[in-house]
Amino acid sequence: MTTLPGQLNPTPRLLLGPGPSDAHPRVLSVMSTPLLGHLDPQFLEIMTETQTMLREVYQTKNQLTFPVSATGMAGMETCFVNLIEPGDPVVVCSIGYFGTRMIDVAGRTGAKLTVKEKPWGQVFDLNELRDILKETRPKVLGLVHAETSTGALQDISQVGKLCHEFGTLLITDCVTTLGCTPVKLDEWEVDAAFSCSQKGLSCPPGMSPISFSPRAVDALKSRKTKVQSWYLDLTSIQSYWSGDRAYHHTAPITMVYALREGLRLVLEEGLEARYARHLRNHAALRAGLEALGLEYIAAESCRLPQVNAVKIPAGVDDVAGRKHLLNEFGIEIGGGLGDFKGKAWRIGIMGYNSRSICVLSVLAALEHVLRGAGVKVTPGSGVAAAELAYSA
Ligand SMILES: *Cc1c(COP(=O)(O)O)cnc(C)c1O
Repeated sequence: MTTLPGQLNPTPRLLLGPGPSDAHPRVLSVMSTPLLGHLDPQFLEIMTETQTMLREVYQTKNQLTFPVSATGMAGMETCFVNLIEPGDPVVVCSIGYFGTRMIDVAGRTGAKLTVKEKPWGQVFDLNELRDILKETRPKVLGLVHAETSTGALQDISQVGKLCHEFGTLLITDCVTTLGCTPVKLDEWEVDAAFSCSQKGLSCPPGMSPISFSPRAVDALKSRKTKVQSWYLDLTSIQSYWSGDRAYHHTAPITMVYALREGLRLVLEEGLEARYARHLRNHAALRAGLEALGLEYIAAESCRLPQVNAVKIPAGVDDVAGRKHLLNEFGIEIGGGLGDFKGKAWRIGIMGYNSRSICVLSVLAALEHVLRGAGVKVTPGSGVAAAELAYSA
């Protein structure tokens, strides 16, 4: 090597895309705490504390609740590989990009898979789901709670009960909801849920909190075949997290510190206060985006507060617009995925980033970008509309 790369010193960014979101400063601070061994009694205590807080945030008493040592997608995979054996009937009801991934993950388990899809931006209603369950009688139904690709929130509050009428287990993707909008696993009778650390929990990416209901644990215990993934096999990982603490893999110590702090922040604020904060900042952002002439993709009845997906106005270039935001203002927002590639912008205000400074900054910067691209915008209109919403 002729020249050594310089010391790491990235230009600061405000991460207002669909994830990762900025980590809370307190989370970053605990991450410089010295390592402990993964079997050190102090670390075992930290694990227990983390699990206890995670149950509160998921609003569950589920014993089998812990963070998988990997990102959200590994949580998805954990739920499917542990609950499905080859030949099991499975239904995935997809409303966007992450539903499509669920189809792929479920398909690889050897399940007898039925796929139901809605046009992007829409969600399933309870009657449609009832008809699907009646027709297919699956062992597992997979649903994405918050479809980050479209900004739509799939109501799952009644779906668990419905599934149980048909002897079906409900798997839900709570990657974008946990820590932002209500997730009530016990009340909603969700059987297996997974999330991530880098969106509503304001930690870096790297952990995927999961939770399995007693029904799901029974299904796991009555498997006839081994779980096809060694690393994600809950029958063995759970003995490290809850059982005899036998070594399974070296826990990512620093990420567990981070998640513990992220969860402390959620519970310190209080779940209801946190959900209300996300709604308040969403209302202001929405007022501002609409004042700038930007139109939401998802209908108001199923719109996510924490991921705001809007159509890019005609004549504005997606990549150039986002580059402008990043280079001139240090603000990252997301582009569209799949069907919405080049057609949508996604603005995330999750966890620590659900703050008025983030809302007002992105509106001011977007106005600048839009005007630069030739869109007619009344100067200051986005910020003014958000200010009005805050004072309402
Ligand atoms: C971000 C996201 C994922 C993937 O999580 P990773 O941490 O990137 O693996 C899965 N589902 C949804 C709905 C997401 O928004």
